[in-house]
Parts: sequence; structure tokens; C-alpha cells
Amino acid sequence: MSEDVQSLAKRRGFIWQSAEIYGSMAGFYDYGAMGARLKRNWENVWLKYFMGLNDNYHLIDSTNILPEAALKASGHVDSFTDPLVECTKCGHAFRADQLIEEATSTAAEELSLEEIDAKVSEIGLACPKCKGPFGKAMFFNMMFPIEVGTKGTDRAYLRPETAQGAYLNFKRHFEIMRRKLPLGLAIIGKAYRNEIAPRQGVYRMREFIQAELQIFMDPETFSDELDLSEMDGKEILVQLVDMRGKKDVQSMPCRYLIEQYKLPDFYVYHMLKVQEFYLDIIKIPKNKFRFYEKSEKERAFYNRVHFDIEVDLSTLGGFRELAGLHYRGDYDLTKHQIGSKEKMEVSLDGRKLIPHVLELSFGVDRNVWALLDIHLVDERTGVLKLPPQLAPYTFAVFPLMKKDELIPLAKEIHNLLKDDYDVCYDQSGSIGKRYARMDEIGTPFCITVDFDGLTDDTVTLRDTDTTEQKRVKVDELERIARGLASGKLKFKDLN
Ligand code: ATP
Repeated sequence: MSEDVQSLAKRRGFIWQSAEIYGSMAGFYDYGAMGARLKRNWENVWLKYFMGLNDNYHLIDSTNILPEAALKASGHVDSFTDPLVECTKCGHAFRADQLIEEATSTAAEELSLEEIDAKVSEIGLACPKCKGPFGKAMFFNMMFPIEVGTKGTDRAYLRPETAQGAYLNFKRHFEIMRRKLPLGLAIIGKAYRNEIAPRQGVYRMREFIQAELQIFMDPETFSDELDLSEMDGKEILVQLVDMRGKKDVQSMPCRYLIEQYKLPDFYVYHMLKVQEFYLDIIKIPKNKFRFYEKSEKERAFYNRVHFDIEVDLSTLGGFRELAGLHYRGDYDLTKHQIGSKEKMEVSLDGRKLIPHVLELSFGVDRNVWALLDIHLVDERTGVLKLPPQLAPYTFAVFPLMKKDELIPLAKEIHNLLKDDYDVCYDQSGSIGKRYARMDEIGTPFCITVDFDGLTDDTVTLRDTDTTEQKRVKVDELERIARGLASGKLKFKDLN
């Protein structure tokens, strides 16, 4: 199916490989007109939801190029690596852990270089391209180095994650925002990783977009700032380390995760918030969503708790990581305090501490892809059913035919709505073809002006979801549009 959805995504103006006319480079993608709208809407919905969690959470923006010293302090220069094996015959390089995982169907992320070499010879792994033997495994640093200045003397890198921008700006924001914790700094922007094996479309890119929220907090008091009662009676869809191989997903009460599994209450609270984002706003079906716990060996050593957020994607063959929820302790600010010699310690009610970080880290491209995968309801007819806040266009306005009598009212309605919503106006081609085009790009509602409407001041409103049509009064359109776009009014409830 992946091939088909990829070509659909291309034909309909969503996403395709960049520099196509020069043959493209692996791992780089461009968004077309529909894709850019969909991506921007996802980012806006993300921002609105997560910035809404606390008045002291803010969106900032930071540079894509970072000095070597900052990335040395963060640990990226020395250890932002993936294991690589190279064919001694044809020279092709592969990500060693992925090759082993594919050959054995068991996780290999945690293997050391020695363990990889042993495994390669144990299972007789050979080069998939030419069947040649592999040399010894080695670590490959995934950052893109940059030379800055005419002599290239200032060593720098393209940022491998947006998170560092928030850490580097923490101290200044803490002062500006009147020295309060929790303080949340969100960044939406590009990140760059020279992935060894970019593949599976936008799932593994070399230039991609992250939406990350770093919550700087005092672990002793953070829970007091949250309404923990929101977790009462609520369950989280999880696959815990000790459930691997038994059950894909289990629904567990929040309290159980806190009491039995000893997860911090603030962590479980944020699991619930992330789950609500995916199930209630992005409309991922419950049976396609899970938190996947990373074992101590699999997660970075500084992550005290780490669950990936995974969605079952038929285009990618099963549950795939779209985001991560990481409790990073005081690792990041401590490292930058050592590296920069700037004090990151803050003083709160007589207590001195280096704030801890809870990181909510989302890959925007993977999430946009998931929207196409999940909401492409019918692959045969190609109907895409996107939630109104996410769709490239929320409304389309058509005159039934390209007739002088119908066009003025259709244009008037377009003008009425276009300042507040994404609205497409189209008057060319048969009405059936225009509806089909809107079905293909996920426009939830179409408004059509016909001859009857000219006499009784009505238009036809069509719901993509059901293809049902209703006549509504033109002077009620603004109110109805507001309700439908926000999701507060359902099409079925319209008289
Ligand atoms: P993976 O294990 O898939 O390499 P990761 O655990 O290294 O990902 P993080 O460093 O936690 O990823 O980055 C946060 C998010 O950024 C991921 O959940 C993912 O959605 C996105 N992301 C990471 N690497 C890529 C990539 N190469 N292409 C597209 N998105 C990515």
C-alpha cells in the first residue's frame, strides 16, 4: 500500500522527493500546496493544544546552525551515532542494528559494536546489494558539520534536534518570564540527521521537522501545578517492557501506572494529555495508538523514563514511532552549565536547583504522513476524510455551473468565509469532478450555489464524510461554518 499512498500523496499535491528534476537525494522531501497547508494546520493544532496546558508555556524560535561547543557539551559531538557496517566488496553502508532486526525479527538497538560483529557472523549476514562480506561495525556520527566564515574557522553543525535551542535559551527566558517554574519552551523547526539508511519515505529523512516542547520544572513541586484529578478513572494505552511479545497494547488505569509501575505522576499526566491529543483531536482510532516503553538498554542513559508514541500505520507495516515523551532529569542544563560555565541553577523559595526537563518531542513529517495513512478511508476511491481543523481546505465553494447568474453569489460566499477559514473556490469542470477533487484532498464540506438557491436564498452543503447534502440559508452560513469548522456543530445535527 505504501507505494500507492506515496503516489497519491504526490499526485494530489501533498509531498514528494525534493530536487526531482535532478534525480533527488535520498532523505529529502518537499511539501506541495496541499501538503504545506496540512503540515501548517497540524503545527497550529499542536501549538494550540500543548501551549494551552500552562500559561507559562511559550513558542520560541532558534537557529538551525549551532556552534560546536554547544553540541560538544550536549554530548552530540561524541555520541550522536548509529552503528554502521560496510560491505568490503561493493562499499555500500548499512545501519547494522536495522539489518540485524530485519534478519532476526528481534530488537537490536541496544547491541554494542562487539555484539553486532558477533551477531553478523553468527547469522551469516551478507551485503543485501552484492552478497559480499561486511567489515567490522563502527559508529557513524549523524550530524552535518558546517564551516562558518570565510576561512571556515568557526566549527558548527546543523542542529540534530530543536531541543538544544530551548536549553540554550532557558536561562534568559526564566529571567524574562519572572522566574517561575514550570516554564515551557516550544520550538517547531527543521532538524538535520545524516541518516545512514533514509528510507520508508518521510519516516526517515535527513532534513525533517520537529515540534518539541521542553518543560523545565522542579520535580518536587511540578505535580502541584497539575490537576492530577483529571487522571481519575482514565486509562492509557500502553505496551510496557514486561508485556513485550505477549500483547500489543493494554489499557491501564493512570493510577496503576503510578502506583504499580512507579512512573512519576507528572509523567503519567502528560501521557494522558498526549493520548487525548492523538485520540480526540487528531482522531487516531483507539486500536491504532499506543505508548511503547523503552527499556533501560534501549533508551538514552539520561532518560529516566522514556515511552515512544506509536501509531499503527498500514503504509509502514505496523506500529511506528511518531513522537517521544522523555523525562530527562537535569542532564541537559547540567551539561550546558559545565560546557558554557554559565550558571543554570535557579533559586525558588529558598531552594536552589538545576531544573529538570520533561520533553515532548514530535516528528512533524511523520505525523503528517500518519494523517494521510489513517484518514485515507477508501484507497480504491481515494477519499481522504480529514478533521476540519487539519484539512488543507475546510470549505469549498462552487457555483453549480459556470453561469453568470450563479457566480456572483458563489464569490460572495467565498469572500464571506475566506478571511476566517481555508476556503477553495472552483468553478471549472463538472460538479461531480469538483466534489471528487475535494474528496481526494480531504475537504470536509462543500457549498454549492444553484438556481433554486437564487430564489430562496439557500445553498447546498455537502458533507464529505457521508456525501449527504442539506440545504441551508445563506444568512445562516457564517454561524454554521463556525460550528462545523470548530467541530462543535456536527453535520448530522443540522436541520
Ligand atoms: P528513531 O528511533 O526513529 O531514529 P529517535 O528516537 O532518534 O527516532 P528522537 O530523537 O526522539 O527520535 O526525535 C523525536 C522525533 O523526531 C521522533 O519521534 C520522530 O517523529 C522524529 N524523527 C527523528 N528522526 C527522524 C528522521 N530521520 N526523519 C523523520 N522524523 C524523524
